[in-house]
Amino acid sequence: MSKKTDSNRGLNTGIIHSEYVAPQGFAAFPVGIHHASTVLFENVAAMRASNWQDKSAYTYGLHGTPTSFTLEARLAEIEHGRHCVLTPSGLAAITLVDMAFLQNGDHVLIPDNAYGPNRDLAGWLSHSFGIAVDYYDPLIGSRIASLIRENTRLIWAEAPGSVSMEVPDVPAICAAAHARGVLVALDNTWSAGIALNAFEHGVDIIMQALTKYQSGGSDVLMGAVITRDPALHTRLLMAHMRLGLGVGMDDVYLVLRNLPTLQLRFRAHDQSARQIANWLDGRPEIHRVLHPALPACPGHELWKRDFSGAGGLFSVLFDERYSEAQTDRFVDSLKLFKIGYSWGGAHSLCVPYRIQKMRSDWQESGILVRFNIGLEDTDDLITDIEQAFAAM
Ligand SMILES: *Cc1c(COP(=O)(O)O)cnc(C)c1O
Repeated sequence: MSKKTDSNRGLNTGIIHSEYVAPQGFAAFPVGIHHASTVLFENVAAMRASNWQDKSAYTYGLHGTPTSFTLEARLAEIEHGRHCVLTPSGLAAITLVDMAFLQNGDHVLIPDNAYGPNRDLAGWLSHSFGIAVDYYDPLIGSRIASLIRENTRLIWAEAPGSVSMEVPDVPAICAAAHARGVLVALDNTWSAGIALNAFEHGVDIIMQALTKYQSGGSDVLMGAVITRDPALHTRLLMAHMRLGLGVGMDDVYLVLRNLPTLQLRFRAHDQSARQIANWLDGRPEIHRVLHPALPACPGHELWKRDFSGAGGLFSVLFDERYSEAQTDRFVDSLKLFKIGYSWGGAHSLCVPYRIQKMRSDWQESGILVRFNIGLEDTDDLITDIEQAFAAM
């Protein structure tokens, strides 16, 4: 015989159906972490009337809880958008856009400097799903019109490319696309939605890797797709549901927790990165600094025209007299800068890239090394780079 509770039910039933309900009216700043797969309905009629696409109510954990709805609303606000859908990573957000807007027989245009896995995904869509892909020069601007075909449905842009840092002419690409009824999706991760007002420049779909600045802790993978047009949002929701791209509410909470400091952190990354980029620009070891705010960066004039700030991520090309073994020694000799992918956290990172292997049309000489400037004191980071130059 199972032990009974005071209400004369078995202990298991008593624990599962506990009658205690916490009092209403709790007030605090954090958004509650609402975990759920099952969401409860008052009665059958309410269940039948529910619509999972309607974010004024709840239907199932996959479609969100108050925690994820709140993050979506705040991200839409940052980008001056209206709708937002969360995904389990930035790459899943890219996949969601492709799945929502492309089908067998369609054509998609992707910048040649796109985030690597975006290219890899496009290759897979092309080999296995009958979607034609062309890569375009990120500096193409309005000449992209000549690449648009009858079956082109989507143009990706990245502002700027996150390794070689070219800044595209987003308004020109959008104008050419819209003249032919083609959608433009922008990977806006570098600017965190703070330094580039992408919808104002004509973009239809904004993708963010929240893994970077929004999380800010190097501890969460998450992505978002933000739109203004409800019809576009509905297509994204359908694909999101069919792919089952749910997010964990503990992770959503971590992003929500760091969101209030997003702009302050971003501005601090920007200030420090620009100081270091300018210092590197005067160094004999460096051939070229690829930071959009510096004149040597392709697309610098467009950055000046369209952006109100810069991220903490930039690259350099070493002078061609340095071999890869030497630049590897430079990276290995850094003490504060750690070696690792991703960016946007408090810790500075450094990664060498074999850019000549990534890009068919790469003309520049010199080894490319990418820096993510964290939130350490700028002088200490410069001292660290200086000693690594000496060790090289
Ligand atoms: C990191 C990154 C992504 C992908 O984000 P994940 O969360 O790591 O999948 C996409 N685009 C850019 C520009 C990125 O830097």
